[in-house]
Amino acid sequence: MSFETFNLHPRIAAGIQTAGYTTPTPIQKQAIPPILQGKDILGLAQTGTGKTAAFVLPILQRLMQGPRGHVRALVVAPTRELADQINDSFGQLGQQTKTRSTAVYGGVGVNPQIQRLKQGVEVVVACPGRLLDHINQKTIDLSRLEVLVLDEADRMCDMGFLPDIRKLLKHLPTQRQTLFFSATMPDDIRRLSHDILKNPVTVQIGLTKPAVTVSHALYPVPQHLKTGLLLTLLRHMDTESVLIFTRTKHRARRVAEQINRAGYKAAALQGNMSQNRRQEAMDGFRSGQYKIMVATDIAARGIDVSQISHVINYDMPDTADAYTHRIGRTGRAAKTGDAFTFVTSEDTDMIRAIERVLGEKLERRTLPEFDYSTPAPTKDTEFARPPRQPRSPRPAQPTGNRPANRRQKVKVGSGARP
Ligand code: AMP
Repeated sequence: MSFETFNLHPRIAAGIQTAGYTTPTPIQKQAIPPILQGKDILGLAQTGTGKTAAFVLPILQRLMQGPRGHVRALVVAPTRELADQINDSFGQLGQQTKTRSTAVYGGVGVNPQIQRLKQGVEVVVACPGRLLDHINQKTIDLSRLEVLVLDEADRMCDMGFLPDIRKLLKHLPTQRQTLFFSATMPDDIRRLSHDILKNPVTVQIGLTKPAVTVSHALYPVPQHLKTGLLLTLLRHMDTESVLIFTRTKHRARRVAEQINRAGYKAAALQGNMSQNRRQEAMDGFRSGQYKIMVATDIAARGIDVSQISHVINYDMPDTADAYTHRIGRTGRAAKTGDAFTFVTSEDTDMIRAIERVLGEKLERRTLPEFDYSTPAPTKDTEFARPPRQPRSPRPAQPTGNRPANRRQKVKVGSGARP
């Protein structure tokens, strides 16, 4: 199947060509036809599946006809980085269409945004908070909106934007097309989707297997030797572009510091950082200024770095879904990628779960040049695993192996721990 099947306007086809896309991704195949027909969509898909173009292309097609100069499509996204990426996508794919789009978010001056909105745009890509400010200040007119996209709805909910989104919806025309994307479907997101979608077509890109071009390996290692192993591994590989995942924000920061101390250029990306610092880290990683990024799952969502050569799971993810999501960032676009996962004796259940999803047994590797026998320091506060907190109060469990089982059920993707 090629993009021609969608009968998109030649000016949009030119944008697709510029972007270098030749074949639609599965979500594009499923979502573009119903969106072109004007249907509402419930899209269960993550970043990395091509979901942005899945809504950008049919929106551009709609905008080729009808009036210009007022906001006809609104995309709401959780973070500034994602808003920029989506806005860039409209810019790139719509290069020849004369469609005007702009990104609207907090943390930057409001006046340039007001100016841009006054000049007339057809597409606004916004984060919820600043968008509401514009609505309240009457500096944006959404009265003639035709399409609303909520992107990464679960993450917006995670970040506490749900009340803002509900407020926002009151200011939008009810007669519109709504496209709702979320990687996971916790109850409040399901309710929201139910409230705002009319007879939606559900498109689901299953978290099945990561790209076949990814090679996976497990590195069994005691907890206290993870950083040492990481540094040894980095020394032995071509650190073209490495994304390292840690379980907590604190660890992301610490591990990035340790890598920097060892002489590499690494940035951390975690939920506690200001928008400016996040942006700086993302830009630096994208441009190659930092070869290494250390991130938590939620902070790393939205990273669009097609050049990632290695993903290293410093900590095992909490679910098999989270594993495939992390690994999905390497090996894209027919490049080969490597995915290394550090595993401790606590991770046995999760390894089994991941191997079930992948349908294969993962290779266990040891580094001959690394000394695995170094004893743990007597008081290892830095690498000690803090006790896991259940999300809701539960009666004490009598069995010894409960925590591991419970961990398996916590969805990192739905925001267990940014
Ligand atoms: P997304 O899931 O929207 O963040 O897209 C992930 C990456 O895939 C981005 O770098 C897109 O530019 C790229 N992409 C989207 N659609 C296609 C396609 N049909 N062919 C190749 N790459 C694509």
